[in-house]
Amino acid sequence: MSKHQSLDALRQQIIERNPNEPEFHQAVTEVLNSLEPVMADHPEYQDAKLIERICEPERQILFRVPWVDDQGEVQINRGFRVEFNSALGPFKGGLRFHPSVNLGVVKFLGFEQIFKNALTGLPIGGGKGGADFDPKGKSDGEIMRFCQSFMTELYRYIGADTDVPAGDIGVGQREIGLLFGQYKRITNRYENGVVTGKQLQWGGARGRQEATGYGAVYFLQEMLGAHRKKLKGKKVVVSGTGNVAVFAMEKAVELGAKVVACSDSDGYVHDANGLDVELVKQIKQVEKGRIRDYPKRSKGKAEYQSDGSIWQVACDVAMPCATQNELGEDDAQALIDNKVMAVVEGANMPCTPEAIQAFSDAKVLFGPGKAANAGGVAMSAMEMQQNAARESWSFDYSIEQLQQVMREIHQSCFDTAKQYDRKGDYVFGANAAGFRQVADAMLAFGV
Ligand code: GLU
Repeated sequence: MSKHQSLDALRQQIIERNPNEPEFHQAVTEVLNSLEPVMADHPEYQDAKLIERICEPERQILFRVPWVDDQGEVQINRGFRVEFNSALGPFKGGLRFHPSVNLGVVKFLGFEQIFKNALTGLPIGGGKGGADFDPKGKSDGEIMRFCQSFMTELYRYIGADTDVPAGDIGVGQREIGLLFGQYKRITNRYENGVVTGKQLQWGGARGRQEATGYGAVYFLQEMLGAHRKKLKGKKVVVSGTGNVAVFAMEKAVELGAKVVACSDSDGYVHDANGLDVELVKQIKQVEKGRIRDYPKRSKGKAEYQSDGSIWQVACDVAMPCATQNELGEDDAQALIDNKVMAVVEGANMPCTPEAIQAFSDAKVLFGPGKAANAGGVAMSAMEMQQNAARESWSFDYSIEQLQQVMREIHQSCFDTAKQYDRKGDYVFGANAAGFRQVADAMLAFGV
C-alpha cells in the first residue's frame, strides 16, 4: 500500500472521526480487516479513496419525534435515517424502534447494509434508520401516533427512487402500514414502492415475512453442501423468536433439522426432542406472549431457563437471530466444546469479533450476517420490482427467487474467498465481494 495509508492507519482515522460509536467501529474494523488483498489488487480503489468515501455516509438525518401518550403527556424521541451509500440503487434498509438505538447503532446497521445489499446482486444501495422508542408495553394508539409523527418528518427524505425504508427490530407489518398511511396522507401519492414489508392487500410481496429466516437456512444449506455436509437430522439452536428466528426455525424443520432451543429477551426453552415451531409462532407472533409459557403448553418435555446462555445447549448448528453482540467469546467456546459444526448469523452482527475468531480458529463453518441474512432485503428489492411493474408474484415463485438469490450470494462469497486463497472464509468472501461491487460503481461515477 506504499504511497497510500495502511489499512490500520485508515481504520484509526475513521474511528477518531466518529467518536463514541463502538458498534460502527466494530463493523468498519471487520470489513477493513478483509480488504488488504483487495486493495493490493486494485490500486485504482486506493487512488479514488474508496474506503474513506464508503465509510462516510452520504447523508445523516437526525430528527425530533414528539408524540402524546395515553395519559396525555408529551413524549419526545429521537429519529434517525442514515443514507449511507447509493452507488448501486436507492438507499435501502430497515427502521429499528428500540431503546438501544443511537447514531452509532444506526451507522453500523447502515454500513452492513451497503455490502449486504450489494451481495444480493439487486439494484439497492444501503441505509438504515429508526428511533430510540421502546414499543414494548405501548398501546395501539401510542404506536400509531408515534409512527405518524416519525413519518411526518421522514417523508421529505424518502421515495421509491430515493430511499426505501422497511422493518427491523420493533417495526413489522403493522408499523409499516401506519408509516405508509401517513406518507400517503401527507404527499397525496399512492407511491407504495416507498416502503417494503407491506401487507399483501396494498402492495406487499408474498414471502417477505418469511424471507430473512428462510434465506438464512438456504444459506446454511448451501454452506453445508459446499463442505459435503447435510442439514437433515442436525440439531439447531436459534436465538430469538422474532420474525427472523421463527421462519428460520420453520424452514430448518421443513428441511429435516431439529430445532432444540429458542429464546426471547427473558430466557430460553430447550427440548432435546425438538420444539414445536407452530406453538412458538402461536405464543410469540400471534399472542405476543413470552417463551416462558411454552413448556406448560407443549406436549414435549421442554424446559425453560431464565438465566444462563442459550449457547450452552449442545447443537450442530447455531443460528443467532436476535440482536448485535449476543454471542460472545465464552458462548463461542461453549459451542465449540459441544462440537458445533456451523454458525449462521440471522441477525445483524450477533457474534462479537472474539467469537468469530474462536470459530475460525476451531474451523467451524461461519456464515456472516451480511451474506446469510440478506434474504429479507433481497425480497424487499423484489417487492420494489413488483410495485414498479404493478405485479404480484405467487408465494412459490417468490420463494424460488429467494432461494436462487441465496445460492448466488453463497457462490459469490465462496468463489471470492477461493480466488484470494481463503477457501471457506465466508467473512472474507462476503466483505471482499460486497466491497468490490460498490467500489466499481463508485469508480464509474467519478468523485
Ligand atoms: N432490516 C432488514 C435487514 O437488516 C431488512 C431491510 C429491508 O428489507 O430493507 O436487512
